[in-house]
Amino acid sequence: MNDLLVMKFGGTSVGSAERMRVAAGIAAEQKARRPVAIVVSAMSKITDLLLDTLRRAEAGDQAGLEANVAKLRERHLATCRELLPPERQEGAAEGIAYLIAEFQRIAGGMLMLNEMPPRSVDEAVAIGERLSALLIAQYLNAQGTPAEAVNAAEIVVTDAVFGNASPLMEPTRAKSRARLLPLLEHGILPVVTGFNGATADGRPTTLGRGGSDFSASILSAALDAAELWIWTDVDGIMSADPRLVPSAVVLHEVTYAEAAELAYNGAKVLHPRTLAPLIEKQIPVWSKNSFAPEKPGTRILPSIGAATGARAVTSLARVALISLQPASPELSGAHVMARALDALDRANVEVLVFSSSSYRQNFCFLVRTEELAKSRQALESALALELAHDYVYPIQVDEQVGLLAVVGEGMQGKPGTAGRIFTAISREKVNIIAIAQGSSELTIAIVVSRDGLEKAVRAVHAECGMGQ
Ligand code: ADP
Ligand code: ASP
Ligand code: MG
Repeated sequence: MNDLLVMKFGGTSVGSAERMRVAAGIAAEQKARRPVAIVVSAMSKITDLLLDTLRRAEAGDQAGLEANVAKLRERHLATCRELLPPERQEGAAEGIAYLIAEFQRIAGGMLMLNEMPPRSVDEAVAIGERLSALLIAQYLNAQGTPAEAVNAAEIVVTDAVFGNASPLMEPTRAKSRARLLPLLEHGILPVVTGFNGATADGRPTTLGRGGSDFSASILSAALDAAELWIWTDVDGIMSADPRLVPSAVVLHEVTYAEAAELAYNGAKVLHPRTLAPLIEKQIPVWSKNSFAPEKPGTRILPSIGAATGARAVTSLARVALISLQPASPELSGAHVMARALDALDRANVEVLVFSSSSYRQNFCFLVRTEELAKSRQALESALALELAHDYVYPIQVDEQVGLLAVVGEGMQGKPGTAGRIFTAISREKVNIIAIAQGSSELTIAIVVSRDGLEKAVRAVHAECGMGQ
Protein backbone atom coordinates (compact mmCIF):
# COMPACT_ATOMS: atom_id res chain seq x y z
CA MET A 1 0.00 0.00 0.00
CA ASN A 2 1.61 3.25 -1.17
CA ASP A 3 1.24 6.66 0.35
CA LEU A 4 -0.82 5.57 3.37
CA LEU A 5 -1.57 8.41 5.79
CA VAL A 6 -2.22 7.52 9.43
CA MET A 7 -3.89 10.24 11.50
CA LYS A 8 -4.50 10.29 15.24
CA PHE A 9 -7.16 12.43 16.89
CA GLY A 10 -6.69 13.17 20.59
CA GLY A 11 -9.37 13.50 23.28
CA THR A 12 -10.23 17.15 22.72
CA SER A 13 -10.25 16.59 18.95
CA VAL A 14 -13.10 14.07 19.43
CA GLY A 15 -14.50 15.64 22.62
CA SER A 16 -18.00 16.49 21.33
CA ALA A 17 -20.28 15.92 18.34
CA GLU A 18 -18.95 19.16 16.89
CA ARG A 19 -15.32 18.06 17.27
CA MET A 20 -16.10 14.61 15.86
CA ARG A 21 -17.60 16.25 12.77
CA VAL A 22 -14.44 18.27 12.25
CA ALA A 23 -12.21 15.21 12.76
CA ALA A 24 -14.30 13.12 10.37
CA GLY A 25 -14.22 15.98 7.86
CA ILE A 26 -10.42 16.09 7.98
CA ALA A 27 -10.26 12.31 7.56
CA ALA A 28 -12.70 12.31 4.62
CA GLU A 29 -10.88 15.17 2.92
CA GLN A 30 -7.55 13.33 3.04
CA LYS A 31 -9.15 10.05 2.03
CA ALA A 32 -10.27 11.64 -1.22
CA ARG A 33 -6.55 11.91 -2.07
CA ARG A 34 -4.86 8.86 -0.58
CA PRO A 35 -5.50 5.82 1.63
CA VAL A 36 -6.15 6.88 5.23
CA ALA A 37 -6.44 5.05 8.56
CA ILE A 38 -7.29 6.91 11.75
CA VAL A 39 -6.61 6.23 15.40
CA VAL A 40 -8.90 7.83 17.96
CA SER A 41 -8.71 8.63 21.66
CA ALA A 42 -11.62 8.45 24.04
CA MET A 43 -13.64 11.68 24.27
CA SER A 44 -11.86 14.19 26.52
CA LYS A 45 -11.97 13.34 30.26
CA ILE A 46 -13.62 9.95 29.65
CA THR A 47 -10.53 7.91 30.58
CA ASP A 48 -10.33 9.81 33.88
CA LEU A 49 -14.03 9.13 34.47
CA LEU A 50 -13.61 5.41 33.76
CA LEU A 51 -10.63 5.14 36.10
CA ASP A 52 -12.44 7.06 38.82
CA THR A 53 -15.40 4.68 38.44
CA LEU A 54 -13.18 1.64 38.88
CA ARG A 55 -11.58 3.15 41.99
CA ARG A 56 -15.04 3.75 43.43
CA ALA A 57 -15.98 0.17 42.65
CA GLU A 58 -12.88 -1.09 44.41
CA ALA A 59 -13.74 1.06 47.43
CA GLY A 60 -17.23 -0.44 47.56
CA ASP A 61 -18.92 2.84 46.58
CA GLN A 62 -21.83 1.46 44.56
CA ALA A 63 -23.70 4.79 44.41
CA GLY A 64 -20.59 6.53 43.05
CA LEU A 65 -20.13 3.80 40.49
CA GLU A 66 -23.70 4.12 39.27
CA ALA A 67 -23.56 7.92 39.14
CA ASN A 68 -20.41 7.75 37.01
CA VAL A 69 -21.87 5.16 34.66
CA ALA A 70 -24.91 7.40 34.21
CA LYS A 71 -22.57 10.28 33.24
CA LEU A 72 -20.73 8.03 30.82
CA ARG A 73 -23.96 6.90 29.19
CA GLU A 74 -25.44 10.38 28.98
CA ARG A 75 -22.34 11.95 27.42
CA HIS A 76 -22.17 9.33 24.68
CA LEU A 77 -25.92 9.16 24.02
CA ALA A 78 -26.11 12.96 23.83
CA THR A 79 -23.21 12.96 21.37
CA CYS A 80 -24.89 10.20 19.39
CA ARG A 81 -28.13 12.20 19.10
CA GLU A 82 -26.32 15.36 18.13
CA LEU A 83 -23.97 13.68 15.68
CA LEU A 84 -25.95 11.10 13.76
CA PRO A 85 -28.98 11.28 11.48
CA PRO A 86 -32.15 9.79 13.09
CA GLU A 87 -32.02 6.55 11.09
CA ARG A 88 -28.59 5.68 12.49
CA GLN A 89 -29.19 6.64 16.10
CA GLU A 90 -30.88 3.45 17.24
CA GLY A 91 -28.12 1.18 15.95
CA ALA A 92 -25.41 3.37 17.45
CA ALA A 93 -27.25 3.61 20.78
CA GLU A 94 -27.37 -0.19 20.90
CA GLY A 95 -23.62 -0.33 20.32
CA ILE A 96 -23.10 2.21 23.12
CA ALA A 97 -25.37 0.26 25.48
CA TYR A 98 -23.46 -2.95 24.73
CA LEU A 99 -20.06 -1.37 25.50
CA ILE A 100 -21.30 0.33 28.65
CA ALA A 101 -22.82 -2.95 29.86
CA GLU A 102 -19.42 -4.53 29.33
CA PHE A 103 -17.83 -1.80 31.44
CA GLN A 104 -20.47 -2.28 34.15
CA ARG A 105 -19.82 -6.01 34.19
CA ILE A 106 -16.10 -5.44 34.86
CA ALA A 107 -16.69 -2.66 37.40
CA GLY A 108 -19.31 -4.84 39.11
CA GLY A 109 -16.72 -7.57 39.54
CA MET A 110 -14.36 -5.06 41.18
CA LEU A 111 -17.13 -3.90 43.49
CA MET A 112 -17.72 -7.48 44.62
CA LEU A 113 -14.04 -8.32 45.09
CA ASN A 114 -12.89 -4.92 46.45
CA GLU A 115 -10.01 -5.27 44.06
CA MET A 116 -8.81 -3.71 40.79
CA PRO A 117 -6.91 -6.41 38.92
CA PRO A 118 -4.66 -4.58 36.39
CA ARG A 119 -5.77 -6.74 33.52
CA SER A 120 -9.45 -5.96 34.14
CA VAL A 121 -8.62 -2.26 34.49
CA ASP A 122 -7.08 -2.31 31.02
CA GLU A 123 -10.06 -4.06 29.51
CA ALA A 124 -12.42 -1.57 31.17
CA VAL A 125 -10.61 1.69 30.37
CA ALA A 126 -10.22 0.80 26.68
CA ILE A 127 -14.00 1.06 26.43
CA GLY A 128 -13.61 4.87 26.21
CA GLU A 129 -11.77 4.49 22.91
CA ARG A 130 -14.20 1.83 21.67
CA LEU A 131 -17.10 4.21 22.28
CA SER A 132 -15.52 7.09 20.37
CA ALA A 133 -14.40 4.82 17.49
CA LEU A 134 -17.95 3.53 17.17
CA LEU A 135 -19.44 7.03 16.97
CA ILE A 136 -16.88 8.36 14.50
CA ALA A 137 -17.14 5.34 12.20
CA GLN A 138 -20.94 5.67 12.24
CA TYR A 139 -20.72 9.35 11.40
CA LEU A 140 -18.26 8.77 8.53
CA ASN A 141 -20.59 6.16 7.07
CA ALA A 142 -23.54 8.50 7.42
CA GLN A 143 -21.56 11.12 5.50
CA GLY A 144 -20.83 8.71 2.66
CA THR A 145 -17.28 7.77 3.66
CA PRO A 146 -17.19 3.99 4.17
CA ALA A 147 -15.55 3.36 7.54
CA GLU A 148 -15.24 0.57 10.09
CA ALA A 149 -14.46 0.75 13.81
CA VAL A 150 -11.62 -1.60 14.76
CA ASN A 151 -10.70 -2.59 18.31
CA ALA A 152 -6.89 -2.41 18.58
CA ALA A 153 -7.00 -5.41 20.92
CA GLU A 154 -7.45 -7.41 17.71
CA ILE A 155 -4.33 -6.04 16.02
CA VAL A 156 -1.83 -4.53 18.48
CA VAL A 157 0.01 -7.35 20.22
CA THR A 158 1.84 -6.38 23.41
CA ASP A 159 3.72 -7.80 26.36
CA ALA A 160 1.81 -8.37 29.60
CA VAL A 161 2.83 -5.18 31.45
CA PHE A 162 -0.74 -4.11 32.16
CA GLY A 163 -1.22 -0.36 32.23
CA ASN A 164 2.05 0.33 30.43
CA ALA A 165 2.45 -2.38 27.83
CA SER A 166 4.99 -2.43 24.99
CA PRO A 167 4.19 -3.62 21.49
CA LEU A 168 5.60 -6.78 19.97
CA MET A 169 6.16 -5.46 16.49
CA GLU A 170 6.28 -8.67 14.47
CA PRO A 171 2.92 -10.13 15.47
CA THR A 172 1.43 -6.62 15.44
CA ARG A 173 2.60 -6.17 11.89
CA ALA A 174 1.10 -9.49 10.81
CA LYS A 175 -2.24 -8.94 12.56
CA SER A 176 -2.73 -5.31 11.64
CA ARG A 177 -1.90 -5.92 7.99
CA ALA A 178 -4.22 -8.93 7.83
CA ARG A 179 -7.06 -6.92 9.36
CA LEU A 180 -6.55 -3.43 7.93
CA LEU A 181 -5.06 -3.82 4.45
CA PRO A 182 -8.18 -5.54 3.05
CA LEU A 183 -10.29 -2.67 4.42
CA LEU A 184 -7.97 -0.08 2.88
CA GLU A 185 -7.92 -1.92 -0.44
CA HIS A 186 -11.71 -1.82 -0.52
CA GLY A 187 -11.75 1.91 0.16
CA ILE A 188 -12.94 1.50 3.75
CA LEU A 189 -11.43 3.84 6.33
CA PRO A 190 -10.37 1.98 9.47
CA VAL A 191 -11.18 3.85 12.71
CA VAL A 192 -8.87 2.14 15.18
CA THR A 193 -9.05 2.57 18.96
CA GLY A 194 -5.98 4.23 20.43
CA PHE A 195 -4.46 3.33 23.81
CA ASN A 196 -5.18 -0.42 23.88
CA GLY A 197 -3.88 -3.76 22.68
CA ALA A 198 -3.78 -7.35 23.89
CA THR A 199 -1.20 -9.96 24.71
CA ALA A 200 -0.58 -12.78 22.22
CA ASP A 201 -3.00 -14.95 24.21
CA GLY A 202 -5.68 -12.28 24.08
CA ARG A 203 -5.49 -10.56 27.48
CA PRO A 204 -6.39 -6.86 27.11
CA THR A 205 -3.64 -4.29 27.78
CA THR A 206 -3.11 -0.53 27.55
CA LEU A 207 -0.05 1.47 26.56
CA GLY A 208 0.03 4.02 29.39
CA ARG A 209 -1.81 7.33 29.80
CA GLY A 210 -1.73 9.39 26.65
CA GLY A 211 -0.94 6.17 24.77
CA SER A 212 -3.03 6.85 21.66
CA ASP A 213 -0.09 8.72 20.11
CA PHE A 214 1.93 5.56 20.61
CA SER A 215 -0.85 3.41 19.09
CA ALA A 216 -0.75 5.59 16.00
CA SER A 217 3.00 5.31 15.61
CA ILE A 218 2.90 1.54 16.16
CA LEU A 219 0.31 1.19 13.39
CA SER A 220 2.19 3.60 11.12
CA ALA A 221 5.27 1.39 11.40
CA ALA A 222 3.29 -1.85 11.06
CA LEU A 223 1.53 -0.62 7.91
CA ASP A 224 4.62 1.10 6.42
CA ALA A 225 2.72 4.39 6.35
CA ALA A 226 4.12 7.30 4.37
CA GLU A 227 3.24 9.82 7.10
CA LEU A 228 1.68 10.18 10.52
CA TRP A 229 -0.33 13.26 11.46
CA ILE A 230 -1.15 13.75 15.13
CA TRP A 231 -4.11 16.09 15.65
CA THR A 232 -4.29 17.83 19.01
CA ASP A 233 -5.49 21.09 20.60
CA VAL A 234 -2.40 23.30 20.21
CA ASP A 235 -0.60 24.53 17.08
CA GLY A 236 2.16 21.92 17.32
CA ILE A 237 5.14 21.26 19.51
CA MET A 238 5.96 24.48 21.28
CA SER A 239 8.98 25.96 23.00
CA ALA A 240 7.15 25.34 26.32
CA ASP A 241 3.71 24.27 27.54
CA PRO A 242 1.59 27.28 26.50
CA ARG A 243 -0.50 26.81 29.67
CA LEU A 244 2.61 27.62 31.69
CA VAL A 245 4.44 30.03 29.40
CA PRO A 246 2.08 32.30 27.44
CA SER A 247 4.92 33.51 25.20
CA ALA A 248 5.75 29.97 23.99
CA VAL A 249 6.05 29.65 20.21
CA VAL A 250 5.50 26.78 17.78
CA LEU A 251 8.62 24.98 16.62
CA HIS A 252 8.28 24.43 12.87
CA GLU A 253 10.65 21.48 12.82
CA VAL A 254 12.09 19.25 15.52
CA THR A 255 14.13 16.08 15.27
CA TYR A 256 12.93 12.68 16.46
CA ALA A 257 15.50 12.89 19.24
CA GLU A 258 14.34 16.34 20.37
CA ALA A 259 10.68 15.33 20.29
CA ALA A 260 11.40 12.18 22.28
CA GLU A 261 13.38 14.11 24.90
CA LEU A 262 10.64 16.72 25.21
CA ALA A 263 8.00 14.03 25.61
CA TYR A 264 10.01 12.04 28.16
CA ASN A 265 10.55 15.16 30.20
CA GLY A 266 6.92 16.19 30.43
CA ALA A 267 5.72 17.75 27.15
CA LYS A 268 2.30 16.11 27.21
CA VAL A 269 1.76 16.94 23.53
CA LEU A 270 3.37 13.56 22.65
CA HIS A 271 3.41 10.25 24.47
CA PRO A 272 7.09 9.57 25.32
CA ARG A 273 7.32 6.36 23.32
CA THR A 274 5.70 7.70 20.14
CA LEU A 275 8.86 8.19 18.13
CA ALA A 276 10.54 4.83 18.74
CA PRO A 277 8.58 2.72 16.23
CA LEU A 278 9.07 5.33 13.48
CA ILE A 279 12.84 5.67 13.57
CA GLU A 280 13.73 2.55 11.62
CA LYS A 281 11.63 3.49 8.58
CA GLN A 282 12.07 7.22 9.18
CA ILE A 283 8.37 7.92 8.87
CA PRO A 284 7.81 11.67 9.17
CA VAL A 285 5.30 12.96 11.73
CA TRP A 286 3.30 16.17 11.89
CA SER A 287 1.80 17.55 15.08
CA LYS A 288 -1.21 19.67 14.12
CA ASN A 289 -4.09 21.59 15.66
CA SER A 290 -7.56 20.24 14.83
CA PHE A 291 -8.96 23.59 16.01
CA ALA A 292 -6.88 25.38 13.33
CA PRO A 293 -6.18 22.77 10.64
CA GLU A 294 -4.93 25.39 8.18
CA LYS A 295 -1.86 26.07 10.33
CA PRO A 296 1.21 24.07 9.32
CA GLY A 297 2.02 22.59 12.75
CA THR A 298 5.31 20.97 13.66
CA ARG A 299 7.19 18.57 11.44
CA ILE A 300 9.12 15.86 13.30
CA LEU A 301 11.85 14.30 11.18
CA PRO A 302 15.10 12.36 11.53
CA SER A 303 17.37 15.40 11.37
CA ILE A 304 17.27 19.09 10.55
CA GLY A 305 19.94 21.25 9.01
CA ALA A 306 21.01 24.06 11.26
CA ALA A 307 20.31 23.20 14.89
CA THR A 308 20.60 26.20 17.15
CA GLY A 309 21.00 26.02 20.90
CA ALA A 310 18.31 25.39 23.47
CA ARG A 311 14.95 25.09 21.75
CA ALA A 312 12.37 24.17 24.36
CA VAL A 313 11.87 23.78 28.08
CA THR A 314 9.59 21.23 29.73
CA SER A 315 8.66 20.38 33.28
CA LEU A 316 7.26 17.59 35.41
CA ALA A 317 5.69 18.49 38.75
CA ARG A 318 4.66 15.10 40.08
CA VAL A 319 8.06 13.62 40.79
CA ALA A 320 10.06 12.54 43.84
CA LEU A 321 13.79 12.40 44.48
CA ILE A 322 15.10 9.27 46.19
CA SER A 323 18.58 9.43 47.73
CA LEU A 324 20.76 6.55 48.83
CA GLN A 325 24.02 6.70 50.69
CA PRO A 326 26.21 3.85 51.89
CA ALA A 327 27.05 4.34 55.57
CA SER A 328 30.17 2.28 55.52
CA PRO A 329 33.23 3.23 53.43
CA GLU A 330 33.89 -0.47 52.83
CA LEU A 331 30.70 -0.81 50.88
CA SER A 332 31.18 0.09 47.22
CA GLY A 333 28.85 2.91 46.19
CA ALA A 334 28.91 1.65 42.61
CA HIS A 335 27.72 -1.74 43.79
CA VAL A 336 24.79 -0.28 45.75
CA MET A 337 23.97 1.92 42.77
CA ALA A 338 23.92 -1.05 40.40
CA ARG A 339 21.71 -3.08 42.73
CA ALA A 340 19.33 -0.14 43.21
CA LEU A 341 18.98 0.50 39.48
CA ASP A 342 18.48 -3.18 38.80
CA ALA A 343 15.74 -3.38 41.45
CA LEU A 344 13.95 -0.35 39.98
CA ASP A 345 14.21 -1.78 36.49
CA ARG A 346 12.72 -5.08 37.59
CA ALA A 347 9.86 -3.21 39.23
CA ASN A 348 9.24 -1.42 35.90
CA VAL A 349 10.05 1.98 37.38
CA GLU A 350 11.26 4.61 34.96
CA VAL A 351 14.19 6.56 36.39
CA LEU A 352 13.86 10.08 34.98
CA VAL A 353 17.11 11.53 36.28
CA PHE A 354 20.07 9.84 37.85
CA SER A 355 22.90 11.71 39.50
CA SER A 356 25.77 10.80 41.78
CA SER A 357 28.54 12.57 43.63
CA SER A 358 32.06 12.24 42.29
CA TYR A 359 33.06 9.43 44.68
CA ARG A 360 29.73 7.75 44.04
CA GLN A 361 29.13 7.58 47.75
CA ASN A 362 25.86 9.41 47.47
CA PHE A 363 23.41 9.20 44.63
CA CYS A 364 19.86 10.03 43.81
CA PHE A 365 17.23 9.29 41.23
CA LEU A 366 14.07 10.98 40.23
CA VAL A 367 10.89 8.96 39.74
CA ARG A 368 7.26 9.81 39.06
CA THR A 369 5.13 10.28 42.19
CA GLU A 370 2.84 7.44 41.00
CA GLU A 371 5.84 5.14 41.02
CA LEU A 372 7.25 6.24 44.36
CA ALA A 373 5.62 3.54 46.50
CA LYS A 374 6.72 0.71 44.26
CA SER A 375 10.21 2.26 43.91
CA ARG A 376 10.58 2.36 47.66
CA GLN A 377 9.37 -1.21 48.02
CA ALA A 378 11.76 -2.42 45.33
CA LEU A 379 14.74 -0.65 46.96
CA GLU A 380 13.86 -1.75 50.47
CA SER A 381 13.64 -5.36 49.45
CA ALA A 382 16.78 -5.31 47.25
CA LEU A 383 18.83 -3.63 49.99
CA ALA A 384 17.08 -5.25 52.97
CA LEU A 385 20.26 -6.66 54.50
CA GLU A 386 22.33 -3.52 54.08
CA LEU A 387 19.54 -1.39 55.54
CA ALA A 388 18.99 -3.74 58.48
CA HIS A 389 22.69 -3.70 59.35
CA ASP A 390 23.15 0.04 58.81
CA TYR A 391 25.53 -0.40 55.90
CA VAL A 392 23.28 1.97 54.00
CA TYR A 393 21.63 5.04 55.53
CA PRO A 394 17.81 4.99 55.56
CA ILE A 395 16.37 5.82 52.14
CA GLN A 396 15.60 9.53 51.84
CA VAL A 397 12.69 10.81 49.78
CA ASP A 398 12.03 14.41 48.82
CA GLU A 399 8.64 15.03 47.25
CA GLN A 400 8.95 18.81 47.22
CA VAL A 401 10.81 18.78 43.92
CA GLY A 402 10.10 19.29 40.24
CA LEU A 403 11.95 18.48 37.04
CA LEU A 404 12.84 21.09 34.48
CA ALA A 405 14.48 20.01 31.23
CA VAL A 406 16.01 22.09 28.47
CA VAL A 407 16.18 20.39 25.09
CA GLY A 408 17.99 21.21 21.84
CA GLU A 409 20.26 19.31 19.48
CA GLY A 410 22.46 22.35 19.02
CA MET A 411 23.30 23.05 22.66
CA GLN A 412 26.64 21.32 22.30
CA GLY A 413 27.80 23.90 19.79
CA LYS A 414 26.82 26.78 22.06
CA PRO A 415 29.20 27.09 24.97
CA GLY A 416 27.80 28.74 28.06
CA THR A 417 24.22 27.58 27.59
CA ALA A 418 24.20 25.55 30.81
CA GLY A 419 25.72 28.43 32.77
CA ARG A 420 23.08 30.84 31.54
CA ILE A 421 20.31 28.41 32.44
CA PHE A 422 21.61 27.95 36.00
CA THR A 423 22.06 31.69 36.43
CA ALA A 424 18.52 32.37 35.22
CA ILE A 425 17.12 29.86 37.72
CA SER A 426 19.21 31.20 40.60
CA ARG A 427 18.16 34.76 39.81
CA GLU A 428 14.59 33.68 40.58
CA LYS A 429 15.90 32.36 43.94
CA VAL A 430 14.85 28.84 43.01
CA ASN A 431 16.91 26.13 44.64
CA ILE A 432 18.71 23.73 42.26
CA ILE A 433 18.85 20.27 43.86
CA ALA A 434 20.40 18.02 41.20
CA ILE A 435 21.63 18.29 37.64
CA ALA A 436 22.05 15.66 34.93
CA GLN A 437 23.25 16.01 31.40
CA GLY A 438 23.86 13.15 29.01
CA SER A 439 27.02 13.21 26.93
CA SER A 440 24.94 13.95 23.83
CA GLU A 441 24.12 17.34 25.37
CA LEU A 442 20.66 17.05 23.88
CA THR A 443 19.01 17.63 27.24
CA ILE A 444 19.96 19.33 30.47
CA ALA A 445 17.77 18.00 33.28
CA ILE A 446 17.54 20.04 36.46
CA VAL A 447 15.76 19.07 39.66
CA VAL A 448 14.53 22.20 41.44
CA SER A 449 12.37 22.88 44.48
CA ARG A 450 8.74 22.26 43.59
CA ASP A 451 7.43 25.69 44.57
CA GLY A 452 9.87 27.38 42.18
CA LEU A 453 9.29 25.10 39.18
CA GLU A 454 6.94 27.28 37.12
CA LYS A 455 8.99 30.40 37.82
CA ALA A 456 12.15 28.60 36.76
CA VAL A 457 10.53 27.38 33.51
CA ARG A 458 9.50 30.92 32.56
CA ALA A 459 12.91 32.30 33.47
CA VAL A 460 14.75 29.73 31.36
CA HIS A 461 12.37 30.27 28.44
CA ALA A 462 13.07 34.00 28.53
CA GLU A 463 16.83 33.68 29.15
CA CYS A 464 17.33 31.34 26.17
CA GLY A 465 15.23 33.54 23.88
CA MET A 466 12.91 30.66 23.12
CA GLY A 467 9.93 32.91 22.49
CA GLN A 468 11.63 34.57 19.51
P1 ADP B 1 -4.40 15.06 23.04
O1 ADP B 1 -5.63 14.81 23.83
O2 ADP B 1 -4.67 15.63 21.69
O3 ADP B 1 -3.50 13.87 23.00
P2 ADP B 1 -2.84 16.25 25.15
O4 ADP B 1 -3.64 16.99 26.16
O5 ADP B 1 -2.38 14.89 25.49
O6 ADP B 1 -3.66 16.25 23.78
O7 ADP B 1 -1.56 17.13 24.74
C1 ADP B 1 -1.73 18.45 24.30
C2 ADP B 1 -1.39 19.41 25.42
O8 ADP B 1 -0.01 19.29 25.71
C3 ADP B 1 -1.55 20.86 25.10
O9 ADP B 1 -2.86 21.31 25.35
C4 ADP B 1 -0.51 21.56 25.97
O10 ADP B 1 -1.08 22.18 27.10
C5 ADP B 1 0.37 20.44 26.45
N1 ADP B 1 1.81 20.70 26.25
C6 ADP B 1 2.78 20.53 27.19
N2 ADP B 1 3.98 20.86 26.71
C7 ADP B 1 3.81 21.25 25.43
C8 ADP B 1 4.68 21.69 24.39
N3 ADP B 1 6.01 21.81 24.58
N4 ADP B 1 4.15 21.99 23.19
C9 ADP B 1 2.82 21.87 22.99
N5 ADP B 1 1.94 21.47 23.92
C10 ADP B 1 2.42 21.15 25.13
N1 ASP C 1 -7.57 8.07 26.45
C1 ASP C 1 -6.24 7.74 26.93
C2 ASP C 1 -5.82 8.69 28.04
O1 ASP C 1 -6.52 9.63 28.35
C3 ASP C 1 -5.23 7.70 25.83
C4 ASP C 1 -5.05 8.99 25.05
O2 ASP C 1 -5.90 9.86 25.06
O3 ASP C 1 -4.01 9.12 24.40
O4 ASP C 1 -4.79 8.49 28.63
MG1 MG D 1 -2.23 13.06 24.48
